[in-house]
Amino acid sequence: EDLGSDVQIDAEIDEDAEDGLLGGLQIDSTAEIQVPDRLVDQVIGQEHARDVVMKAAKQRRHVMMIGSPGTGKSMLAKAMSELLPKEELQDVLVYHNPDDGNEPKVRTVPSGKGDQIVEAHKEEARKRNQMRSFLMWIIIAIVLGYSLIIAGNILLGILAAGIIYLAFRYGSRGSDAMIPNLIVNTADQQTAPFEDATGAHAGALLGDVRHDPFQSGGMETPSHDRVEPGAIHKANKGVLFVDEINTLDVRSQQHLMTAIQEGEFGITGQSERSSGAMVQTEPVPCDFVMIAAGNLDAMENMHPALRSRIKGYGYEVYMDDTIEDTPDMRRKYARFIAQEVEKDGRLPHFTDDAIEEVILEARRRAGRKGHLTLELRNLGGLVRVAGDIARAEDAEYTTRDHVLQAKGRSRSIEQQLADDFIQRRKDYELQVSEGYVPGRVNGLAVMGEDSGIVLPVMAEVTPSQGPGEVIATGQLKEMAQEAVSNVSAIIKKFSDEDITQKDIHIQFVQAGEGGVDGDSASITVATAVISALEDVGVDQSLAMTGSLSVRGDVLPVGGVTHKIEAAAKTGCDRVIIPEANMQDVMIEDEYEEMIEIIPVSHISEVLDVALEGEAEKDSLVNRLKTITGSALENQSVQ
Ligand code: ADP
Repeated sequence: EDLGSDVQIDAEIDEDAEDGLLGGLQIDSTAEIQVPDRLVDQVIGQEHARDVVMKAAKQRRHVMMIGSPGTGKSMLAKAMSELLPKEELQDVLVYHNPDDGNEPKVRTVPSGKGDQIVEAHKEEARKRNQMRSFLMWIIIAIVLGYSLIIAGNILLGILAAGIIYLAFRYGSRGSDAMIPNLIVNTADQQTAPFEDATGAHAGALLGDVRHDPFQSGGMETPSHDRVEPGAIHKANKGVLFVDEINTLDVRSQQHLMTAIQEGEFGITGQSERSSGAMVQTEPVPCDFVMIAAGNLDAMENMHPALRSRIKGYGYEVYMDDTIEDTPDMRRKYARFIAQEVEKDGRLPHFTDDAIEEVILEARRRAGRKGHLTLELRNLGGLVRVAGDIARAEDAEYTTRDHVLQAKGRSRSIEQQLADDFIQRRKDYELQVSEGYVPGRVNGLAVMGEDSGIVLPVMAEVTPSQGPGEVIATGQLKEMAQEAVSNVSAIIKKFSDEDITQKDIHIQFVQAGEGGVDGDSASITVATAVISALEDVGVDQSLAMTGSLSVRGDVLPVGGVTHKIEAAAKTGCDRVIIPEANMQDVMIEDEYEEMIEIIPVSHISEVLDVALEGEAEKDSLVNRLKTITGSALENQSVQ
């Protein structure tokens, strides 16, 4: 089988246009893209996992999938069920056991037979009942006739007829009890079953026997009729998928292990005090292929015996979070949109430039140069929101504009929090984006995974009584100390002041709940300290991010795109980023006009851009320029 199924369209692929966002696809909309029939061919990327699933389907092996949510784990599990042979499917019936009502019997028959057997039993019961009521009316007629004509007592006759009627009614209940309970019916299955048991409680996973409030006295429901199958039984000959496997309670994991070992598992009532707990059926077949999924953490927390069971008899695969951005892959992303549109069924198809915008977003979300994100559930969310907006407008196609609108709406929770945060700070005027202030620098941090915030840093330098100290508060203390110790060598080199005799106070203004990555704030801290030390103002319409080496080189950091956008939203005019990060910048067009991006590779350039006034600044910058490589080689840090 060819891996990574092709994108089929009417038009040709233009090889000269392969570098374009559509990878050379010559189409007007996703309507022209054909979606593959088999689910396994619809999977984008994840070639290794895809390969494993196809192999495991042939060999009926278990699979453990480790990876981020929304990367296609359950999709692949479902795809596997389509690959398993359908011929082996079975129906399962539970029968009343005349010897012991609490031990119902279990019979397995070929697919489709179950329904027929139940029908036959019902038909028989119906005939028997007809026979019985025919008999009953004859007897009633005889009794009534006898009491009227011979005994002359109509009242006695009616009484006797009533007793006979009730006796027959009660007696016929027994014959219903003979109808078997079809607990697994595969008659209408087009493929081998796929059962998702993620988060299932014991009863849903292992089967259950319902409680009977009328346990005796002839009113009870026969126990075989109260038996309910679990996911393990419904998955017989198919796939049992369990995501977040570690959240299953230990007892269920143990039972699951037994079920995998034995290939059959009797059903009993799961709640101890219910009458169902007295019932235990004969073994019920549960010959499934197990696909257990979760992130790395989940795997480490799952029952070790279960893990080694799956591992020993199957495969373990890692899901990719991103994939290399090639023309072929971009064409598949176009097909991905077509798939999501088709799956939803109501969304208008996407125009070529709408597709391009989604692919751009896939690049942005990858957060890695030359890659596309494989967190496709989220990207599918964007496709649906854009399509819904188009549909609400009765548009024939989903356009680029709809996608842009959707991006605004389908922001992550973190993004919404960050925006809210920025707004609130604007309200309280914590954010200064004008003028020059000594010791105050607009740093940038990443909040959550995909949003940036402006995080101002304030530094103040005061003479110390004893040896100089770095004073910071809260959780940021360590990181501030580290940042200062990293820059102290640089400061020492050029400064006339001996900072070992000073206390340096560092404050992160309103760090709030935002996570601050110390490394990426080190040029911010250095700039704030130098500015405070020399009492030179820092441009407040400027924001910056970058890591600093002891030699004064500015090193790359994470999340630049989100940080730049946050700076722009907050009203900054310029933003400093490490030169090496320029390739990661994928900001949206709307921000491009709002903010100037200044790439730097040395701290002297940072100060050149950030500090106020020509004379003092120039001498500082010149001094700093001498700090390169060898100048610091033998200088001890701190
Ligand atoms: P997981 O089980 O890893 O959390 P799912 O398989 O449930 O993720 O993915 C949810 C949806 O996202 C899928 O139904 C599909 O529409 C889309 N999707 C996720 N990963 C892929 C992929 N690799 N290829 C195509 N579509 C995907």
